[in-house]
Amino acid sequence: MAPYMVGGVANLAYGGNANSLHSVGRSAFAAMEQARRDLAGCLGCRPDELVFTSGATESNNMAIHGLVEREIERRGKHGFESGSPHVVTCSIEHEAVLEPMHVLERKGVRVTSLAPDAGGFISPQRLREAMCEDTVLVSVMTANNEIGAVNLVGELAAVAHETGALFHTDATQAFGKIAFSCSESGVDAASFSAHKICGPKGVGALYLRKGLKCPAYMRGGGQESGARSGTQNVVGMVGFAAAASALAGNAERLEAEALRLTELRDDLYSFFRGYSNVQPSVPCDRGSRDYLPNIVHVNIDGLESETAILRLDREGICVSGGSACSSKSLGASRILTELGVTGDRAMGALRISMGRYTTAEDIDTFKRAFHRLMEWAGL
Ligand code: PLP
Repeated sequence: MAPYMVGGVANLAYGGNANSLHSVGRSAFAAMEQARRDLAGCLGCRPDELVFTSGATESNNMAIHGLVEREIERRGKHGFESGSPHVVTCSIEHEAVLEPMHVLERKGVRVTSLAPDAGGFISPQRLREAMCEDTVLVSVMTANNEIGAVNLVGELAAVAHETGALFHTDATQAFGKIAFSCSESGVDAASFSAHKICGPKGVGALYLRKGLKCPAYMRGGGQESGARSGTQNVVGMVGFAAAASALAGNAERLEAEALRLTELRDDLYSFFRGYSNVQPSVPCDRGSRDYLPNIVHVNIDGLESETAILRLDREGICVSGGSACSSKSLGASRILTELGVTGDRAMGALRISMGRYTTAEDIDTFKRAFHRLMEWAGL
């Protein structure tokens, strides 16, 4: 039997263990490293600045726990004026940032969670006011997953660096929707997920600026140059790089897609303006680049999210009330509450997200279904 047949699927180019010395392992390794080079090209970084992970949740956990641990080790026990390290984040981050922050807090790290302004942004000035000598890390997302607000991460990173803090950004939602380059943004670390760009689920990456050593979160066999142990998901990595190369790696294609989605987004926002009970959750003007091109977020006075979602689902339309990655049960929207929306409106959050395969016909179908929903609700 030929050696590449051992193990059944090992005859696939990516089926071997990328850490094995035999030829099947070596071809998996070659595929993995090609994927790393391709993805790095799309992300504007060097291949050796990328650690493959199981997704953005792991990337965020690794960056937050690892970079804080690194700074504690570097500065030493007595290296903090107030006696403990300090980190800054934003209150509308994804749970994959907020939860590790809570863990740090329980371990004695001081955490400042900045509320966004009414538009959903963290301003450089606001961040500067929150910084202190003991701030070791700032983590602010590039684009919000529910309202699409795009932060000026380059400027925020520069503010963090003024006092010597590191800057991490969860760029999961931004990558593939707007132009993003790790090196140009000046961030120290950034998280990504393949499934947000039509790649496979269960694979992601963490960018760590060259020279920035981050203690491993997953420890074991020392794969990924010791940064992330565990046999690498080569098929996932190849899929991630292929998805990135298909769109995000080509600036012209990305821009054309962003413009196409922006038109659909603006069309939906003007459609919603026709309903007095429906309010846009953010002031997203026509053509605005302050918000992602693929997200529309509104709140409905007098109709709960859950009801709207389930009735639209019966018409074959999938929308959400909050982040699809979090709990299925919905109450008042956390994001709307943070934006200062209260009462019934905060119960009626509706996020419509679009992607590469969403067409103008889909939007028309949605409009008709939404109209029937509002008629049914008597609104
Ligand atoms: N961060 C943001 C902004 C997200 O939108 C998501 C999920 O959609 C995640 C992190 C979690 O990513 P993953 O599902 O790859 O762990």
